[in-house]
Formats: sequence, C-alpha cells, structure tokens
Amino acid sequence: MTEVLAPSRIPLENYVGVVGAGEIEELRALAKPLRGRSMEMINSTAVGGGVAEILNRLVPLAEELELAMRWDVMKGAEEFFDVTKSFHNALHGEPYLHKSKDFEIFLSYNERNRANLPLDAEFMVIHDPQPVALIDARPPGSNHWVWRCHIDLSHPNREVWNFLEKFVSRYDAAMFSSPEFSRQLSISQYLFYPAIDPLSEKNCPLDPELIEQVLDRYQIDPQRPILTQISRFDRLKDPVGVIRAYRIVKRYFDCQLVLAGGSASDDPEGALVLKDVLRAADKDPDIKILELPAWAPLEVNALQRASTIVVQKSLREGFGLTVSEALWKKKPVVASAVGGIPTQIIHKHTGLLAYSVEGTAYQIRFLLSHPEIAAKLGENGHQHVKENFLITQKLKRYLALFLLLDRS
Ligand code: UDP
Repeated sequence: MTEVLAPSRIPLENYVGVVGAGEIEELRALAKPLRGRSMEMINSTAVGGGVAEILNRLVPLAEELELAMRWDVMKGAEEFFDVTKSFHNALHGEPYLHKSKDFEIFLSYNERNRANLPLDAEFMVIHDPQPVALIDARPPGSNHWVWRCHIDLSHPNREVWNFLEKFVSRYDAAMFSSPEFSRQLSISQYLFYPAIDPLSEKNCPLDPELIEQVLDRYQIDPQRPILTQISRFDRLKDPVGVIRAYRIVKRYFDCQLVLAGGSASDDPEGALVLKDVLRAADKDPDIKILELPAWAPLEVNALQRASTIVVQKSLREGFGLTVSEALWKKKPVVASAVGGIPTQIIHKHTGLLAYSVEGTAYQIRFLLSHPEIAAKLGENGHQHVKENFLITQKLKRYLALFLLLDRS
C-alpha cells in the first residue's frame, strides 16, 4: 500500500473570501454529523492527472472540518498499468486489443492490494477502474462502497465494460462527471463534477515576478502571444494536433506554443507520445516542450497565468480539470467539444469549442484578433467555475451522499 504524504492544509476561514461565509457554514453543518466516521479514498496514482489533483485538495479540506478522511494509493507494476491504460483507452471508445492475460493480471493486482489497503472504513470511495475489483473484499451488508468514475463512459468498448460492470454493480452507488457518462446500472448513479481548489498552489494568485522567472527559465518570450496546453503526454490529449493547429495560426500571428506535461505513475504511454511530439515539433524554437516534474503546481500555475490562450485539444476527455484551472485564471480557452469539456466551456460564453485541428486554429486566430472578446470569455469562465467547480462544493456533495447512504 502506498500511503499518500499528507498534502498541505489551508485554514477553512481562508475560503470565506472566495466562496462566501454561507458556503462554509453549509459545509460545517454537513460535516458535523459525520465527525468520527471513517472515510477512505482509493485511487491508483499519488501524483499526475486530475484524480490525484482533486484528492490532494479534498482530503486536507475534510481534515479542516475534523473529518476522518484518508487517501491511499493502490500498488501496481508495469504489467498492471499496461492493462489498465488499455482499459482506459477502450472505455473512452478507442479500439481494444485483448491480450489473453489482461483480465487475470487485472484481478491478481486487485487481490494483492486487498491484503494491504485499509478497506474497513465506514465510507469507501473507489476511484476509476483500476481498483474497482477491491469490492471483492467487502463483507456482505457491511460498510458503504461507492465507485467514482472519472472517465467518459458514453461509448465504452463492450468487452472491457462487461468485465468491469460485474464489479461496479456490487457497489452502493456510482458517480459520474457528466450525465452522458452514466450507464444502465442496477445501482444509484450521481452526478459529481470534478473541482479545483482556488487556494492551492496550482490556482492561487501569483506574484508577477515568479511568473517572469518561470518564463525566463523556459526561454518563453512574454512580449509575443503564448498558446499553452498543459497535459500528460497522452495520445487522447492530442498534443500533435495542437502543434498542427499552432502551425496554421503561425502563418498569421508570430506566436509561441507551450506544451507542458509531466507523467503519472499509472500511465505507461507518456514516453512514446513525447517522442512523437518532439518529432512533430521539428526543433521549431517557438515550440517549447516542457517535461515538468509530476508535482510542479507553481510552475503550472505560472504557465497558465502567462498564457494568452489556453488550449485543450483532447480527442477524448473525462472532465479536463486543466480547463477549469485556466478559466479560474480568467484565461480565454479553446477546447475540443468532448467529454466533460462542454460542461465547462459554454460556447461563445465561457470559451470557444472546436471540433478539428482547423477549427482549433480558427478559434485561436479569432481570439488573437479580438482581445476584448477573449477577455470577456475569461471573465465569464471564472464566474462559471466559481459557481460550479470549486472544491468546497465537491466536498459538500460527498458529505451529502454519505449522509444519504447512511439512511438507506
Ligand atoms: N498536470 C500537472 N502537470 C502536468 C500535466 C498536468 O500538474 O504536467 C495537472 C493539471 O494541472 C490538472 C491535472 O494534472 O490538474 C490533469 O487533469 P485533467 O482532468 O485535465 O486530465 P487527466 O490527466 O486527469 O486526464
């Protein structure tokens, strides 16, 4: 078992200035009857990707409310993460090439983890498919188990979904990031938006000097437009497509492109994708490909804040937390209309949606030539995130669900 290092706590009072005293009072009221009850979050990586990002902020916020919430990470090896990445892609609707031992490998790692993880908390929240079979350890009629799925399940590969569904249907409830992702299940389903922490190092206001230093470090010119996509190097994030869009824009604007990405310990494909990206960039000095450490929140924050336009050209997406992060910073965003992105980008109101490389380039060009519209989209985007995608609301939703489960 990998116990996650305690993420830093931020005093609850500090959130009052952002979300209002009423929101914090509601949180306190929901937390009170749950004091002393044990809650356990389990996922498959401590850093890298949106799930780790959320848990990293959710758990300390729960602790601030004196709740006994823990977060542990299941252990895997390369063979396990190869299988789970192929499941991930297949659930997103990509082709699945079944290898004979896939299901066996998947089950054997889940079984090994059962022995080492604390599975007796009163509220167990299992994130995503990797640890879904831990449910086998649940004694009948004992604690509450819910499955939180962060993947777009609207067009899953049948074979993989049929295999996983046998486990999912044994949970008390499932939570999805968008109504379109829900499946026909015998258990209750809830809509749970992912969320960002406005006060975390990833999203807090930054000293302009620090932003300058980061630009300086990566030799990015603050005087010319900066287009940025921050994502793990993953084919489904389409970094090569971003380069193709940039090349079209470059014919009209002397801009730069920043592609920044770390890795996640449960994603084995990063190195291969990075190679493709380097090839596509073809040593263009205005394309900055930054391999960030898996945990570099201040740098990500600085790069997002320094951007003229933030791009998220995913081919498939669960939610796309990077979009909320950029909107929170009042950045104009051009993003693909996939997965949970249209929940965040209301076209022409909180950003611009695109459906292709050419469309992405077109929208970027439009924003570069209409800075006043770009600024307005950023303002609206900030408000949209404030109303819908902040960590305080997310914790409230968890607590309400726990209280509901307790009564059922
Ligand atoms: N991220 C990061 N460093 C990177 C790439 C991504 O810190 O090099 C963060 C990003 O800021 C966001 C999360 O990882 O908080 C990615 O979440 P998202 O939902 O966008 O995508 P996922 O990786 O979960 O598919």
